[in-house]
Amino acid sequence: MNSPKIYSVIIVGGGLAGLTAALHFSKHGIKVLLIEKNAYPKHKVCGEYISNEVIPYLNSLGVDPFAEGAIPITQFEISTKKGGVARAKLPLGGFGISRYALDLLLYEKVKDRIDVVFGQVDEIRFEEDSTFTVDTKSNETYRSHFLIGAYGKRSNLDVYLQRDFIEKRSPWLAVKAHYEFDFKDDVVALHNFDGGYCGLSKTETGVVNACYLAKYTTFKKSSGIAEFQETVMSQNPHLKTFFEQATPVFERPLSIAQVSFYPKNPVEHNTFMIGDSAGLIHPLCGNGMAMAIHSAKLISEILVRAIQSSSLNREAIEKKYSEQWRQTFQTRLFYGRILQQLLLNKQISHWGVQFVKRFPVLIPKLICKTHGSTF
Ligand SMILES: Cc1cc2nc3c(=O)[nH]c(=O)nc-3n(C[C@H](O)[C@H](O)[C@H](O)COP(=O)(O)OP(=O)(O)OC[C@H]3O[C@@H](n4cnc5c(N)ncnc54)[C@H](O)[C@@H]3O)c2cc1C
Repeated sequence: MNSPKIYSVIIVGGGLAGLTAALHFSKHGIKVLLIEKNAYPKHKVCGEYISNEVIPYLNSLGVDPFAEGAIPITQFEISTKKGGVARAKLPLGGFGISRYALDLLLYEKVKDRIDVVFGQVDEIRFEEDSTFTVDTKSNETYRSHFLIGAYGKRSNLDVYLQRDFIEKRSPWLAVKAHYEFDFKDDVVALHNFDGGYCGLSKTETGVVNACYLAKYTTFKKSSGIAEFQETVMSQNPHLKTFFEQATPVFERPLSIAQVSFYPKNPVEHNTFMIGDSAGLIHPLCGNGMAMAIHSAKLISEILVRAIQSSSLNREAIEKKYSEQWRQTFQTRLFYGRILQQLLLNKQISHWGVQFVKRFPVLIPKLICKTHGSTF
């Protein structure tokens, strides 16, 4: 049997982080293989609001979300369960685009430049000769010098690699669907309800994406998604109007369970973790996608430099990426955790929104704590 060809880099997972890294490597002529378990395009549970901090980098890779119809978003609204609203201008702003369109856009840019395999990776081994062997469910084997884990927040590989967070049960589930609804183009809204919050913003097709995170303990008191939206979420008058008047576009909403925010490490088992595989920021911050793209840039730049100059000291590279990842993201993850706790406390969120309503200048300051600047 022929031994498999050795790639410089294998990327496991072709979401935003994996596709961005693949595109970056392809622009520098690095021999890269991307392995993704699902075909494109595909809807994903996500708020679909992206911070403008990604624009210069995406443009440098030849990607322009606005040319695909992404909708500029400049305003932020937050409401309490009782319906009190605070509004502010977003400091940097962002845009609305569905994951269906964005992941496909990146895939289309990269698919003819690199090798792409559709399959589920089941095993990853770091061999004695300092290479990786990657096996898929359909018994194909691939090899590489470096491995990037871009397989999202929770995957079979976290179980295989026995990562710490996988043992801990998470109290969160998330639901998302698209709706026809009369909603302002330039607004991203965050509406609070008992045990969770729901984001609303428009996407490139003009539909409104409604995506919410809810505590399982609150959710399980309802018989399902429809009853939960009607009885629990609709206690917030803004969500009541939305669910009464909006027309669903999907046959049924998408949902995911076990959404975990436990800290992870950016390098594990000699694998460079990027995007949600390295850590997930609370969705209310609307920064997870920017972090996925930014972490792809960090590791791609480090590995391109190392491969092109043949300075392949693995330990030094791992240390460098870990340090850069922590310097770039740790503070916003911390503030994301604090904000989530405050927002889910009924009293604090009520008084907090009343307070920022009187002093709206505070909102952009809080948002800046959970976002980065352009990179
Ligand atoms: C409820 C919710 C709302 C959110 N809202 C926002 C928002 O409004 N704005 C924002 O910026 N961020 C938001 N986020 C965060 C954002 O969705 C993520 O940070 C982002 O999707 C991370 O991208 P990724 O590439 O790391 O992971 P993903 O996009 O999840 O991609 C991982 C890929 O890996 C593949 N994969 C998994 N396992 C394997 C395997 N074994 N073999 C091969 N392939 C595999 C998957 O099929 C998938 O395509 C939200 C998150 C949640 C949960």
